[in-house]
Amino acid sequence: MKELRRKFGDRFIDDEAVLSLYSREASFEVPSARPLGLVYPVSEEEVVWLVKWAYESGTPIFAQGSATSLSGNTVLTRPGIIASFEKMNKVLEVNPTDSYVVVQPGVRLEELNIELARYGVFFPVDPGSVRSATVGGAVANGAGGMRGAKYGTMRDWVLGLNAVTGRGDLLRLGCRTLKCRNGYDLVRLFVGSEGTLGLVTEAVLRVAPLPESAAALLARYDDLGALVKDVVKIRANRIWPLFAEFLGPAESEAVGLEASYTLFLGVDTNKGAEEAVLSKLKGIIGGRISEEAVGWEQAMELLEPRRRLFAAQVAIMQKQLGDEGVLVIEDIVVPVSKLPEAASRVVNLAERLGVPLSLGGHVGDGNLHPTTWFRRGDPEGAKKAREFIEGLGKIAVELGGSVSAEHGIGTLKRDLLKLELDPLALKYMRELKSIFDPRGILNPDKVF
Ligand SMILES: Cc1cc2nc3c(=O)[nH]c(=O)nc-3n(C[C@H](O)[C@H](O)[C@H](O)COP(=O)(O)OP(=O)(O)OC[C@H]3O[C@@H](n4cnc5c(N)ncnc54)[C@H](O)[C@@H]3O)c2cc1C
Repeated sequence: MKELRRKFGDRFIDDEAVLSLYSREASFEVPSARPLGLVYPVSEEEVVWLVKWAYESGTPIFAQGSATSLSGNTVLTRPGIIASFEKMNKVLEVNPTDSYVVVQPGVRLEELNIELARYGVFFPVDPGSVRSATVGGAVANGAGGMRGAKYGTMRDWVLGLNAVTGRGDLLRLGCRTLKCRNGYDLVRLFVGSEGTLGLVTEAVLRVAPLPESAAALLARYDDLGALVKDVVKIRANRIWPLFAEFLGPAESEAVGLEASYTLFLGVDTNKGAEEAVLSKLKGIIGGRISEEAVGWEQAMELLEPRRRLFAAQVAIMQKQLGDEGVLVIEDIVVPVSKLPEAASRVVNLAERLGVPLSLGGHVGDGNLHPTTWFRRGDPEGAKKAREFIEGLGKIAVELGGSVSAEHGIGTLKRDLLKLELDPLALKYMRELKSIFDPRGILNPDKVF
């Protein structure tokens, strides 16, 4: 610790109060070890130094952006050092012509888009946590979000990375061009690696032209089945919505909307074509239309209540359990055509287990976030929540989907991953981990 203090000065923290603040993330997973200290690196050179020091001393390093993770990706499983990237937060280069931006890992996604808007481009990956989530955390979690139905997730938007492996080597991966075939695609390997292979110190992200305009609507439904069937119809009509998000009745009411299932549906388009888009959408879906929006800003405003899902779920839980509730947000994905079956199986599962269920999510790409809660300290409630998570994973895998769409594996889904991948695939992954991180010091105990 003396060496860290000498190197990082007042950017090394061992104050217990601060350390405890950095020890929790947004998920209900709790740390099983306490941090030895916290450092805020400000340069690649410092990150290389830190990892070499950790390698020599065998000290685990837990990288952290804003700790908004929902699968136990950041929590400490052994005593170690938290490396917070919040002070490496500069946009280094914006190149709208070549469609890329170079950023440090601590840049928050919303701040990035505020900067990019000046150039008429944007970074499309838009998690609900966009105001806090950092580039480094989004890269490492392979994050998705509201615009996934059209634009996919982080793995579709990272062109290049600088990352420091568990050996302390600085790798410069990928490129700044829209195409490049420079050997194995290690960039893709790092995206979604949850801080277990290397610490991201710089990212080259692809950017897209800001759409000229958008058309959006809110549609109401009395039952979930009708809503998800409409989403399937939209996709079957070969429309890639900019967003297709939904809230359940209680969640809609909690964010100030009518208490029914609410579909938020938006399509990006050219100026002047909005009304035609809206009439096409209205011709496809069967829900009751309660609001329409024309224009990019207006469509984003219409989507705003959906961003309050997390707060709405906390409010609903607090009504039942006061401050003793523990919220469990799940993240499964199925092929869009299987959404009706998935939705009804999720509801049946919650009923069978007798757990509360809150629904909402990014249905446009087949991603559901079924959420439940239990009273803190209630072992039966915690057990049922785990059974719920496991049951959801089984539904996803049986329907040809995945146990995690975007939140990652962390500590929460290590067992579930075995449901989805065969042992040989896991063996190869473990071997890869040992190449990049032979001493197992980078975010240990995650994923496997
Ligand atoms: C209200 C709410 C809404 C959310 N909505 C979405 C959503 O719509 N879509 C979605 O995908 N996720 C969502 N999330 C989950 C989470 O916000 C995202 O995964 C986000 O990208 C995490 O960013 P972060 O900066 O908080 O990363 P952290 O939580 O701090 O870290 C995430 C992972 O990245 C690693 N990491 C962080 N920085 C680095 C680095 N520089 N190098 C290497 N590894 C690093 C960490 O070790 C950890 O494994 C939501 C969370 C909340 C609380």
